[in-house]
Amino acid sequence: MKHTLPGTNEAHCLPDGAGERYLVGGQLTTVIARPEDTGGLLEAVVASGRKGAEFPLHEHPVGHEAMLVLDGSVDLRLGADLFHLSRGDYASIPPGTAHGYTMRGHYSRLMAWTVNGKAALLQTTLGEPVAAGAYGPGDSAPLLPDRRSRAEADADVRFLTEGQSPDGAAVSSPTAPDGVVPYVIRAGEGERLLAGDQLFTFLSHQGNTNGAFIALTTIGPQGGPIPKHFHEKHAETFFCVDGRMTMWGGEDEVTLHPGDFLHVPAGTIHSYRLDAPYTRFVGLLAPGLFEPFFRAMCEPFAGYVFPSTPGPVRFDRVMQRMRELDLKLVDPPRPPSHG
Ligand code: FE
Repeated sequence: MKHTLPGTNEAHCLPDGAGERYLVGGQLTTVIARPEDTGGLLEAVVASGRKGAEFPLHEHPVGHEAMLVLDGSVDLRLGADLFHLSRGDYASIPPGTAHGYTMRGHYSRLMAWTVNGKAALLQTTLGEPVAAGAYGPGDSAPLLPDRRSRAEADADVRFLTEGQSPDGAAVSSPTAPDGVVPYVIRAGEGERLLAGDQLFTFLSHQGNTNGAFIALTTIGPQGGPIPKHFHEKHAETFFCVDGRMTMWGGEDEVTLHPGDFLHVPAGTIHSYRLDAPYTRFVGLLAPGLFEPFFRAMCEPFAGYVFPSTPGPVRFDRVMQRMRELDLKLVDPPRPPSHG
């Protein structure tokens, strides 16, 4: 497995802070997945900055963006609304949605995934490559006008002025809404499903991304590995937020700590195991077609933390629907033995 950006569609794992770094305005952005690393299925960027660092109001005509605040606090303008976001808050930003943000804490960080867009090219066009660094130098540095024009020509972005921004309201929702609309889900909120001792929360589902992707949070205690499997059609990314986990991708085993990222392309055998008493990771899967798997395997769950008594794992329902799910098990589970 590559521990750098591979440049080809194969599994890659990047520790916290690794990737291609750029200074973009007052922020440090780190590109952790480019189109050439994921078969064009998705891109991912981590942006960090000090209080006052901002990215001006803009929209992506084609790309659907998903944003997760990792540290500090961020004021996100989304449509006509302003959201004060902190750690664990999530925003879905469909194509054509006006958005921009200002970092409010001195050690703010956010993760942004983009599907069908040009997020990596946006960083290279707007930014200046830098070799190292953890946070941007702070206070917003304006984006240079000639770079903004180049980005608008090449990188699926249109910068907006206040007058141009639409007045459509974004939604702050306890669960991901059904339509393709901009929304925010607060940390811990979202539709929750339980399988065994793992709690899955839908941040985005197929219906509100037009099938571009699904995004979920998984939390659980330390336990055994999930069955080894692969997918024929969709790629998966794993971003560890809390705790510690072991992952297998192809022939390799890696440990993920908070901030570590793993991309598993379609066709690569993989599995994971949660290793700390409270481990949380966020997964984005593209294209968005695997939601029925979670609905088959899990039961609805009202709590916000995984329970001390595990619930059922409905592998019986998964097996029934196996032919319609994008799932190939390497070692199919044996029927339970009696006696
Ligand atoms: Fe998988």
